[in-house]
Amino acid sequence: MRHKVIAGNWKMNKVLSEADQFAESVTGKLPKDDNVEAIVCAPFPFLPSLVEKAKGSRLKVGAQNMHFEESGAYTGEVSPMMLEDLGVTHVVIGHSERREQFAETDESVNKKVHAAFNHGLTPIVCVGETLEQREANETMSHIERQVRTGLKKLSDEQIGTLMIAYEPIWAIGTGKTASSSDADQVCSLIRRVVKDMTSENIAEQIIIQYGGSVKPANIDELLEQPDIDGALVGGASLDPDSFLQLVEAGT
Ligand code: PGA
Repeated sequence: MRHKVIAGNWKMNKVLSEADQFAESVTGKLPKDDNVEAIVCAPFPFLPSLVEKAKGSRLKVGAQNMHFEESGAYTGEVSPMMLEDLGVTHVVIGHSERREQFAETDESVNKKVHAAFNHGLTPIVCVGETLEQREANETMSHIERQVRTGLKKLSDEQIGTLMIAYEPIWAIGTGKTASSSDADQVCSLIRRVVKDMTSENIAEQIIIQYGGSVKPANIDELLEQPDIDGALVGGASLDPDSFLQLVEAGT
């Protein structure tokens, strides 16, 4: 049986004092239940403080991006080694906002996923189609290509421990959620692709999240779907109470 994973993606929001307040208000209140994992993926400047505040609690701290190189002349970039050294456990890779606005590709996603594993970080690999692709009936082929290229040359064991977040681009920050059965259909396709790349066992093990306008009001229905194991949540993860409600839904 797979557990549920609720990951908050704060994007470029909050200042340090607000991030600290968030950690102070949620760490003591997270459900003590192994069936649900709670992660907050925060901007780089908040990570050291969040890791410190999350110590001894059930809250895990992730980054929202990183470079695939270890170190060197990459002005403005953050390396996987730096994240590992801070005690960060997860990293979002290939979010559609990074693909669209910062020219990330399936190939760079794949390099980053390898780099994450080299540094003991669990990647949350994002995939998703645009509205045009959905309307042109290209969702399935697009997602399959993103998964196959993004996870290229990983061992079966590595694939079994990473997470994939299916986030239809048209549902992000728009208030439009994919219907739970549409979302489940794509998550189930992702599981079939993983099965084809690895084995039935690994496919049964991998965590697949849905993302795109997830909120306390729609989380239950999404988590009831057989192939949705959690959510990657933007807007509704910023408020401590709403984040706690989402995590609670996973118990
Ligand atoms: P949203 O963002 O929940 O605000 O739609 C989700 C995401 O982009 O990860």
